[in-house]
Amino acid sequence: MTLAYSTEVKYLKGVGPQRAATLATRGIHTVGDLLGYLPFRYEDRIHFTPVAEIVPGGIYTLQGVVADAGVARFTRGRGAIYHLLVRDSTGLLHCKFFHGAYLHGKFRVGQRIVLYGKADLDPLPAGRIEMINPQFELLGNEFSAPARGAGPPPATSDATPPATTGAMPPATAGAAPDSTEVGRIVPIYEAIGGISSRMIRRIIYGLLDSLASAPPDPLPADILERYAFPSRRDALRFVHFPPPDVPLETLNAFRSPAHQRLIFEEFFFYQLSLALRKQQAQRLPGIAFRVREPQIREAVKRILPFKPTDAQKRVLAEIAADLERPVPMNRLLEGDVGSGKTIVAFEAAAIVIENGWQVALMAPTEILAVQHFLSARRIFAPSRYTVEMISSGLKASAKRDVAERVRTGQVQLLVGTHALLEDPIAFARLGLVIVDEQHRFGVLQRKRLIDKGASPDVLVMTATPIPRTLSLTLFGDLDVSVIDRLPPGRAPIDTRWSGPEHLPGVWDFLSRQVAAGRQAYVVYPVIEQSKSVEAQRSLKAAIVEYERLQKFVFPKLRLGLLHGRMRSEEKEAVMEAFRRGEVDILVSTTVIEVGVDVPNATVMVVEHAERFGLAQLHQLRGRIGRGANKSTCILVAPKSASGEVSGDSKARLETMVATTDGFAIAEMDLKLRGPGEFFGTRQHGALSLEVANPLRDRELLETARREAFAFAGNPEREAARRSLLASLAPEWQRRYQLAAVG
Ligand code: ADP
Ligand code: MG
Repeated sequence: MTLAYSTEVKYLKGVGPQRAATLATRGIHTVGDLLGYLPFRYEDRIHFTPVAEIVPGGIYTLQGVVADAGVARFTRGRGAIYHLLVRDSTGLLHCKFFHGAYLHGKFRVGQRIVLYGKADLDPLPAGRIEMINPQFELLGNEFSAPARGAGPPPATSDATPPATTGAMPPATAGAAPDSTEVGRIVPIYEAIGGISSRMIRRIIYGLLDSLASAPPDPLPADILERYAFPSRRDALRFVHFPPPDVPLETLNAFRSPAHQRLIFEEFFFYQLSLALRKQQAQRLPGIAFRVREPQIREAVKRILPFKPTDAQKRVLAEIAADLERPVPMNRLLEGDVGSGKTIVAFEAAAIVIENGWQVALMAPTEILAVQHFLSARRIFAPSRYTVEMISSGLKASAKRDVAERVRTGQVQLLVGTHALLEDPIAFARLGLVIVDEQHRFGVLQRKRLIDKGASPDVLVMTATPIPRTLSLTLFGDLDVSVIDRLPPGRAPIDTRWSGPEHLPGVWDFLSRQVAAGRQAYVVYPVIEQSKSVEAQRSLKAAIVEYERLQKFVFPKLRLGLLHGRMRSEEKEAVMEAFRRGEVDILVSTTVIEVGVDVPNATVMVVEHAERFGLAQLHQLRGRIGRGANKSTCILVAPKSASGEVSGDSKARLETMVATTDGFAIAEMDLKLRGPGEFFGTRQHGALSLEVANPLRDRELLETARREAFAFAGNPEREAARRSLLASLAPEWQRRYQLAAVG
């Protein structure tokens, strides 16, 4: 049977309806999809290390036979340990699998096996070398080479590959019985459900040779040539079954030309979709606001409570230039917590309102909306603008009243949360939409709000510092402005990591700060006792702690409690009291994470800091250090090597102590979590990258972006563009959402 990229996987050898269903859970429906499922790692199974040569700490691939296997019960909560003894001609290696009961019956003595893992020193008996939880692959009997069938296989040099001519392996190695398993560089895939790496390898190996002619290469020919990229078909063959002479490190770093081509391709089409979307947005008629007239400049000046920083001035100039153009603005305003984005947004609002249009300001939480509302009222008081807020606490009649005045154009600035998206809210003349904290808003929500105006200008503010290359990936259809300097007169924040045993000293410090007139936050990771037993045992809930602190630790101080399950009026009342200085210590959960601005609060204690993510800690810490007084952030987390703090937690806490630079922190966060987790985008489908990793491959990302925007922007390439978009397989269109823009 000849196969096409569009052939459904259920027709492949080794895949039935059941496995096809399993593959579908990973979005793999066709041969093309399957070929896009790349190995995450490669193993050198040409050169095995003899057991006698391995030393503790090294990572090895070795080949042997099963000498013995069985379960040993083990107490101390580690469950059963499965022991496996593997022999080659040079010696015996002991392997242990924790919680390994599932391996029961898996191994037969005499079976050939390949192991991959790190060698460790076994404490008992001292000096023995072992591997813990190594990855393994049993070599199937039906494929085992007859010459090596009996007895321990040769450990190293004899295991020459069956065919190592250096040509594309599937073409030349087909006759060798072991060719997908040993004697070559072997691709390791992430298992999918019950489909093991080995099965995936065989399925892909089998299909590569039966592929009929490949569809035309989707990348423009001049780009292929300029970067000397292999064709798509060659690249796919190469990444699945690389020739034996490629250095393993090159493969494992995804740096082979084949990998680079596939990565580039992914970035290119993603960026192309952004470029086309951006072009399309710019074809919409926008509002050309007047920005240069003296009375407008006056109106902007009037609201400024302080002298803007150079960074704020530069960013306002960028925004003003957008407002002036008869094309809808689509701008991301990036700035670290406390960098002063709000006032810049208000300046933009003033320009728009002076032009006779309305402004909508959307915040991710009720608390933040209230805060924006209050500061907008304060800031715009001299301008006499009508500022209103839609909040969930508002009575239906009051809501109707506000909605009516928005509809008739009497309300000039409307603040709110998602409630602004609700249907009854219609604007008379919506000119500007300001979205605070983009990362909590879906693209769709933004679109719904935009739909409320003809095509209003959009300014998105985010305090999540995103490394530049990544904001290109994510928001590549937006223009980006960055406030890269904090306002003057900020005393730096001193951050410390304290073990819980030092809490009495921490509370002492808090008392002294309050005595000196300052205010403080104490933050807990949970709202109420979680139902899980473990959580109950290990976490102090904010409520319980609040009561304890008030009664026993700070009986003379005024404590406030803020958590997510309070009603919004209660939350607002507590926040307002804290803002007015009527609460000394605010005990809270992470609801204060975003945007709360109380400059007199100079101390933050975060309990169980090891449980917070890096970005979250940074956002929390951004609540202090907002005034001229020196601020202190104390992260309370176990310090001992008792294993309570994992390596990642330790890295997070050390980063927090070492720097307050949001970009450095974001960079570290990304490293620790990886891009998928960092953005949580896989689920949201905003970014469906399979091979590419924006962090690892940022140079390729920049290159691909440049090429894609040039390709999209060049009128002479209109024909090439059309034919490219037309020839892209439907799944490509689905994946990169090119259908919508093409
Ligand atoms: P962001 O929203 O970027 O986190 P804010 O806009 O809330 O930051 O500003 C943080 C604090 O700094 C606020 O109290 C604000 O009044 C103050 N601020 C902003 N810009 C300046 C400036 N140019 N000079 C002095 N203070 C400023
Ligand atoms: Mg803000």
